[in-house]
Amino acid sequence: MSLSNEIIEWRHHLHSIPEIGFKEKSTSEFIARKLEEFGIEVVRGIGKTGIVGILSRGTSTESIAIRADFDALPIEEKNDFSYVSKNNGMMHGCGHDGHASMLLGAAYQLSLQNDFDGTVYFVFQPAEELGTGAKAMIEDGLFTRWKIDAIYAMHNLPGIDVGSFLISPGSVMASENHFKIEVLADGGHAAMPHLGSDPMITACSIVPALQSIITRNLDAINEPAILSVTDIKTNGGANVIPTIITLTGDTRCFSDETQEYIKNAIERVVSGVTSAAGLAYNYEFSNCVLSTINDAKTSEIAARIAKKLVGESKVNENFKPYCISEDFAFMQREVPSCYILVGNGLTGKKGGVPLHQPNYDFNDDLLQVGTNFWVNLVYDQLAK
Ligand SMILES: [Zn+2]
Ligand SMILES: [Zn+2]
Repeated sequence: MSLSNEIIEWRHHLHSIPEIGFKEKSTSEFIARKLEEFGIEVVRGIGKTGIVGILSRGTSTESIAIRADFDALPIEEKNDFSYVSKNNGMMHGCGHDGHASMLLGAAYQLSLQNDFDGTVYFVFQPAEELGTGAKAMIEDGLFTRWKIDAIYAMHNLPGIDVGSFLISPGSVMASENHFKIEVLADGGHAAMPHLGSDPMITACSIVPALQSIITRNLDAINEPAILSVTDIKTNGGANVIPTIITLTGDTRCFSDETQEYIKNAIERVVSGVTSAAGLAYNYEFSNCVLSTINDAKTSEIAARIAKKLVGESKVNENFKPYCISEDFAFMQREVPSCYILVGNGLTGKKGGVPLHQPNYDFNDDLLQVGTNFWVNLVYDQLAK
C-alpha cells in the first residue's frame, strides 16, 4: 500500500474511535505503537495520555518539535461514511484525527531517512479542546526534559481552499478568559427597598459599563477585544430583593498586555460602580487560554517551506486573526514557535463544513500536503 493510502487508513481508524480530553487511551496507544513500529523512541504519559516520539540522526544538538493534537469532541456525529464514530456522543469534529495522521506520516517518512542531522520531537498532545492538554505536557517536562529549539503546529480550516496556507507572525488567534463578579448587598423586601440595599440596579449598570472598556479604552484597530456578560444569577424572588447577584462572562483579545489591561479594567469598573452604590463585590478573572502569537523567525521559515510546497499564490501571510483560541499558546510562551493554518476545503465543497459541526470531516486530500510540509520543514531546519 502507498504511504498516502496508509495515512488515509490511519486517519479513518482514528476518526472511528474518537475519545475526549485525557481519555484518549486507544488513540494514544495506536499512535505510540505506530511510532514504535517505525523504530522511533516513544515516551508515554507526558501530560497523562500525551506522547513524545524522538528521532535523532547524526551528531548535531539542534532540534525541532512538531505538535499535533489528537482529542475529539462531545458531539454526536451525523456523517454516514464507513469510518463514522463508533463511540456514542463523541466525534472528531475538529480534525485532530487528521493532524495526528499527518504527523504520523511525517514520522514514518523521516524514520526511513538518514540524511538530516539533529533531533525531531513528535509531540502528540491530548485535551486541546479542554484547553489543558498543552499545560499538562509542559508540567510533565516537555521543555525541561528535552532541549527543544522551536515548536510548530498546524490546524485545518474549513472555508479555505484545500492545501492553501495561512502563516503570519504575531497574533493569529485570541486568548480566552472568564470572569465572575458578585455584587453583594443587604437585600430586603421588594416593597421596602429603603430599609435594605439592592444589588439589582448596580449589577445591571455594571453590564453596559463594562462595554466601555472595549469601546472607549482600547484601540479599536490595533487592540480589538470582545467582552460578553453571558449569565446573571440572583438569590432573590419576585418580592425578595437579593443579597447577591453573580455576573459571569467571557472576554477575548490578542495580546498578553491587553488581557492584563482588561482584567484590571473590569475590576476598576466594578469597584467604581459598586462603591457609588455603597455596595461590596467579589471579583475573579481566569485565563483559560493565552492568545496564539507566532514568532517572526519561525513564521518566516514556515511560510518559505509552504511556498516551496504549494506555490506563492497559495500562501497567505497577511490575514486577519481569528477569534477562536488554541492551547498551543502555552507552548508558544516556552520556545520560538509557529501555528500554521491550512485550508480544509472551500465552503460547499469537500472539507468545507465548519469545525465542531456534526457533519464536519477532515479532508483526506490534505493529509499528504501536511505530511510533506512537516518532512520538508525538518529537512530545512536539520540540514546536514
Ligand atoms: Zn476544536
Ligand atoms: Zn482543533
